[in-house]
Formats: sequence, structure tokens, C-alpha cells
Amino acid sequence: MCFRVTRPLIATLFSSAFFATASADDKILNIYSARHYQTDEQLYSAFTKSTGIRINRIEGKEEELMERVRNEGANSPADVFISVDAARLSAAHELGLFAPVQSKILESRIPAHLRAEDWFSFSTRARVIIYAKAAVKAEDVQSYADLADPKLKGKVCTRSGSHPYNLSLMAAIIAHHGEANAEAWARGVVANFARPPKGGDTDQIKAVAAGECAVAISNSYYVARLMRSDKAEDKKDIDRIGVVWPDQKTNGTHINVSGAGVLKHAPHKEAAVKFLEYLASDDAQRHFADGNNEWPAVPSAKVANPALEKLGKFKPDTLPVGSLGMYRAKAQMIFDRVGFR
Ligand code: FE
Repeated sequence: MCFRVTRPLIATLFSSAFFATASADDKILNIYSARHYQTDEQLYSAFTKSTGIRINRIEGKEEELMERVRNEGANSPADVFISVDAARLSAAHELGLFAPVQSKILESRIPAHLRAEDWFSFSTRARVIIYAKAAVKAEDVQSYADLADPKLKGKVCTRSGSHPYNLSLMAAIIAHHGEANAEAWARGVVANFARPPKGGDTDQIKAVAAGECAVAISNSYYVARLMRSDKAEDKKDIDRIGVVWPDQKTNGTHINVSGAGVLKHAPHKEAAVKFLEYLASDDAQRHFADGNNEWPAVPSAKVANPALEKLGKFKPDTLPVGSLGMYRAKAQMIFDRVGFR
């Protein structure tokens, strides 16, 4: 449930015609964003407050926004593209949508495996295994491979295979284990489905808590969000589930990222680079963690989030984020072939 219902309204308000009224030297930054968290409003307003640069934003799905940038071509008013999926950021790179960015700040603050040629990650999220404490032992679900084990037949819940979070997980599995093994894995997971994929990650966590399935996969921040919820039903759900960092003894837990790049035809390139550097600042990094329960991309950034603290430390997969895009088309093909829809 990443997409806010206000999206069409925002898109109408900030149409291209609206953007076009701004000249290149105005203190303005136009952002196309596929990140839609209420808590991000603070990020944008803090940037405007410290730089005087006003932000216009169009929110939409990654594909729509990338298509729009392509169609607008050299006339595009967009300066920055923000996405919540490494594979889509790679796709934007492949399409030649980004401009090269030279920034000592970004190079020194963002670790190499969280940067690609022309885009940068600003936060990470882990794809964790959720299990029902009453039905499954933690030791039986220590690896993504376990999700395909016949012992979990009829017990696994997940969102759609066409969702970027699952496609990027699959891309990582292909990268580590090769196409044939990855396909066998996907086939095994489909054979273990408790129900056809539906809903978002929170729905899977809730289904595990309700006993509809015993195991699910979810992004970590959805778990943390429930952990921080005051609602009695959320607290009850959290009590019923366990969280596993998969693959701690091997490649580490798959992570995806929120990231951004400066667009090739950006009318406000200087402001765009300034914005990316701001996203790597201590303040903005803290915000990613405290506001949306993600981990900062900058290792030295300090966070104060009780849910993240409680979830504890884990070994993340350090596969370079840029490489996830390489296997995305293959991931989709395999999912289609095995009926992971
Ligand atoms: Fe999400």
C-alpha cells in the first residue's frame, strides 16, 4: 500500500503546463516520485526551508513516470526521479533517462554497493520472512529456499509475483544461484501457496497472524509499522508472528532501496544535485529511519527508532544494487512460466 489515494489530484495540480511556467533560474525543483509516504512531507519541507528551493511533485507508479519522462523528452520539466525499487532505477538508467552526477558528498556518504552509475540509494529495506509462532518453528524458515520446501505445502502467502519487491528478490536469487535453480525455487514456492497472491505486504502479515497461512514474505518497514502501532489488533498480530532474517549463514537478507537520480533533461540540475546531497545528510537519513522505518543508506547516520532497534542487526545481501536490474526481465519470465502471478 505504497500509493496514496491523492495521486490523481496531485498529478492534476502539478501538470506539465504548471511546471512549464517556471523558468530554469527559478529556485524550483520538479520531482517525479514513486515514493508515497505521508511522512516524507517533512523531508521536502525541510529541504525548502534550508535552501529556499520550492519543490513541485508528481507522484505516480514507476512505469507511468518513466514513460512520461520519455515522452516529454528534451522538454521534460522533471529534474529528479525517485523510486522504491532498485530494478526500476536500473531500468531508468538503461533507458538513458539519467544524467551523470559528480558529487564528492554522495560518493563519500553512500556505500559503493548502494550506488549505480548515475543513481543513488538513500534508504534500504529488507525482505524478511514472517511466520506464525503457533504453526512453524523459526529454524524451519531460515532461508528463502525454505519457502519452496514441500514441508510448507499450503502454508505460504505472498503478494503478486509481478510486484517489484518480489521481482527484485527473484533477481537477487537468479544472481546468486543461477536461472535454473531460481526457477525450481519459484516453482516450489507456487506449489506451497496457501492462496493465490493478493494484497500488499501488510495483508500477508495479517493473514499469518489470522492463521490463514503460516509463512509470508514482507518488507521490513511494514512489520516495524505494525510494531509501532497503538491499535490493539496490530499489537495482537505482532504477538502472533515471528520475523526471520533469511540467509544469514549464506548471502545475507535481500535488501531493496529507495533511490533517485538526476534526469538527463533536468532544467534545474544544480538544485537537483543539491537535493540528492540533502537526502544523504544526517537529518534526511534520520528521517528515512524514524519516519518510514527504513535503514539509512549512510552507515554513520544515527537513528532513534524503537521498532528498528527491536528488530535488531542482521547481515544484508551486499549484491550491488545496480545488478538487480540485469535480472529483472528474467525474473518476470520465470514467474510467468511457473504461474507466480
Ligand atoms: Fe512499500
